[in-house]
Amino acid sequence: MQNARFIQKKRILVTGGAGFIGSALCERLLGEGHYVICLDNFFTGTRENVEPFLDNIHFELIRHDITQPIFLEVDWVFNLACPASPVHYQYNPIKTLKTSILGTMHMLGLAKRVKARILHASTSEVYGDPVVHPQTEDYWGNVNPIGIRSCYDEGKRAAETLMMDYLREQNVDSKIVRIFNTYGPNMRADDGRVVSNFIVQALTGEDITIYGDGTQTRSFCYVDDLVDVLMLMMEKDGFTGPVNTGNPVEFTILELAEKVVTMTNSTSKLVFKPLPQDDPTQRKPDISLARTELGWDPKIKLDDGLKKTIPYFDNWLAQNYKNYKP
Ligand code: NAD
Ligand code: UDP
Repeated sequence: MQNARFIQKKRILVTGGAGFIGSALCERLLGEGHYVICLDNFFTGTRENVEPFLDNIHFELIRHDITQPIFLEVDWVFNLACPASPVHYQYNPIKTLKTSILGTMHMLGLAKRVKARILHASTSEVYGDPVVHPQTEDYWGNVNPIGIRSCYDEGKRAAETLMMDYLREQNVDSKIVRIFNTYGPNMRADDGRVVSNFIVQALTGEDITIYGDGTQTRSFCYVDDLVDVLMLMMEKDGFTGPVNTGNPVEFTILELAEKVVTMTNSTSKLVFKPLPQDDPTQRKPDISLARTELGWDPKIKLDDGLKKTIPYFDNWLAQNYKNYKP
């Protein structure tokens, strides 16, 4: 039994911990004094993202693919492993499905065996191209089951089903968060998502590639706000979700492009490219549930988040891009 005078340190598994969100979460957990096991197959994550923690004796890094079982003893599991950018999840769609379905089953099996609490990183993509706007958690979505985004969308939907069935049938302490577009430092420069693409293009003077006419909308959440809500959700007893986590302020992609060009003083031109198949036309979370259940509201405005993200890419490019002139 733990002595009440001592801080209750937990043993926490973060799958996908070397990725963009995972590395920010590992940093927060270590900062709060927990023991962290970061598990990653390094498909999109990097050792550089977790390099600052490698000397920390509370941090353990395991190269492992969650499509294979693993036996570990932990109190909490954050299941974040899965490529999140369309470019990466479409690179090997069958593997993406295996990661979401087999991988989540393995993590649920682990949680069941050691009676751990498990939080699964789901996505706004479960709503597909939504006809309900803004999206509330009780909306079942509008997903194409056979399109090029389906490996991700349907994989995440099946993972949610698994989370709920392990809760109902096996009493696993399951939690589901539906993450909306999140950005910040430690995203890959070649990630392919819109914020990293536009910043890198603007800083290197390349054309800014707007897919479609740029009227499609997204709502962008800074990573620190997201880590706050992941922690609040994990700490909350008796609340499974699913809960939307994202910033409800909506921008068109054209507005984002113009903002990035202005903030970087870039000479880049905006160019229009074909819209990828099944690209959702609008996306904005209704976060009433997160507000009432978790007392969470994102604090960081897009301009402020971009001011923290642009220097990260500037620095990264200076070290990794030939002839880069900051
Ligand atoms: P990311 O690609 O940076 O991180 C994913 C991590 O998972 C990487 O480190 C990758 O190497 C690892 N990984 C992938 N497949 C794996 C496997 N089979 N076994 C072990 N490790 C594996 O992406 P991210 O933006 O940090 O996303 C983290 C999670 O949040 C993902 O589950 C993603 O679907 C979800 N999410 C992210 C966003 C967003 O906007 N960033 C939005 C919705 C949902
Ligand atoms: N997008 C764009 N240019 C890019 C990358 C993305 O116009 O260089 C668009 C993309 O078509 C989508 C939006 O930006 O409409 C967000 O794309 P992202 O890949 O970041 O996330 P998701 O589509 O999964 O929300």
